Amino acid sequence: MLRFYKASKNEKGSMTKILDGKAVAAEIRSEIKSAVAELREKGTPVRLDVILASHDPASATYVSMKQRDCAEVGIESKIHRFEEGVSQKELAVLVERLNDDEAVSGFFMQLPLYDGLDHIPLISAIEPLKDVDGLSPLSAGRLAVGLPSLLPCTPHGVIQLLVRNGVAVEGREAVVVGRSNLVGKPLAGLLLNENATVTTCHSRTKDLASVARRADILIVAAGQKEMVGPEYVKDGAVVVDVGIHRKDEGGLTGDVRFEEVEAKASYISPVPGGVGPMTRAMLLHNTLRAAGMREGRRAQ
Ligand code: NDP
Repeated sequence: MLRFYKASKNEKGSMTKILDGKAVAAEIRSEIKSAVAELREKGTPVRLDVILASHDPASATYVSMKQRDCAEVGIESKIHRFEEGVSQKELAVLVERLNDDEAVSGFFMQLPLYDGLDHIPLISAIEPLKDVDGLSPLSAGRLAVGLPSLLPCTPHGVIQLLVRNGVAVEGREAVVVGRSNLVGKPLAGLLLNENATVTTCHSRTKDLASVARRADILIVAAGQKEMVGPEYVKDGAVVVDVGIHRKDEGGLTGDVRFEEVEAKASYISPVPGGVGPMTRAMLLHNTLRAAGMREGRRAQ
């Protein structure tokens, strides 16, 4: 059974400062690989389908990375690729077909879609048991009221990164910078479920640095390149950087100025190699869970 989503109360000593998402994600993938093999032995299909309706090169790259991850853990994957000009109706028909297809464990739509397409009604039509991105309004609502659901991958990845590094969450002050439906809002909900005291900040927050300095656990998902320096960080805080940005000189950076903040933090996640790999691992986890839930329903 996977060790998912329950915070340990113990904090490691100060030896391990880096929240190494690459290593934790590899550990999770190996657990998933065994669980997928077990399901397959029972004859349960484990398959992830992806709808790709975009000419964004980054989206194509993300999708092929996700396919590689699937192959590594034994999950079958299939991409439904559409040329520009595809209609909303055609995509809606595909969503219905994938909802009904017993061979498909779960599926998601790589965003953004081509201009002119509205992803909201399409995502809303995904059956919650197959919503492996955890982003449909139904999944978000279930999370908000504390019902079991497939959790959004990035926020769940952040929680797993903390938990699996032994960072205690319960009773601590957590500050989340960002309130998007993709990251900030669901993350605040998950931290609340873990009994943290949660503050959510956004672009209208006054004196962000002083609010952020209250945090025992500071999670930055503002989408602002290297915005957060040491003046935002309390001594000994845990800092998780969700942001991803291309550096002018090549390579990636985050929302946090890593080199400046590292000295103050007790734990810090790097970019790359922090939250990114965790997000991908959680997609595999959701696919496995979706397959397991279908197996459970069939067995009833
Ligand atoms: P959005 O742009 O949708 O949301 C950004 C949020 O940050 C908004 O709530 C916004 O406030 C807030 N914000 C923006 N500027 C400031 C500021 N100066 N001070 C305080 N708050 C601010 O971004 P996402 O949530 O989708 O993504 C955030 C970052 O995470 C991006 O860099 C993205 O690339 C990255 N990302 C990384 C993933 C990973 O796997 N590592 C996955 C998903 C995203 P307001 O609501 O008021 O506008």
